[in-house]
Amino acid sequence: MDREHETAPKNAIELGPQCPNCGEPWLRPTNLPGRYRCVYCLHRFELTSVCPNCGEHSTIVRMSSTAILKCNNCGDSMLQAV
Ligand SMILES: [Zn+2]
Ligand SMILES: [Zn+2]
Repeated sequence: MDREHETAPKNAIELGPQCPNCGEPWLRPTNLPGRYRCVYCLHRFELTSVCPNCGEHSTIVRMSSTAILKCNNCGDSMLQAV
């Protein structure tokens, strides 16, 4: 019976960062550092080191959490469409 959840997709499966374009949590890192691609709408984004909203510098941490995509200062998205 435990085999059921091997095939049934759950809501909690590896949802990535939200796409700024379509809002779906399907951003995936590409083979380029700091670059992400939305597998839902296929837009590409670059993680900036300076917040486009307030100009605050951000330390880019590795993919430890999704919080790295947001500015520490104002909470705006650090992703820029490429
Ligand atoms: Zn998208
Ligand atoms: Zn900011």
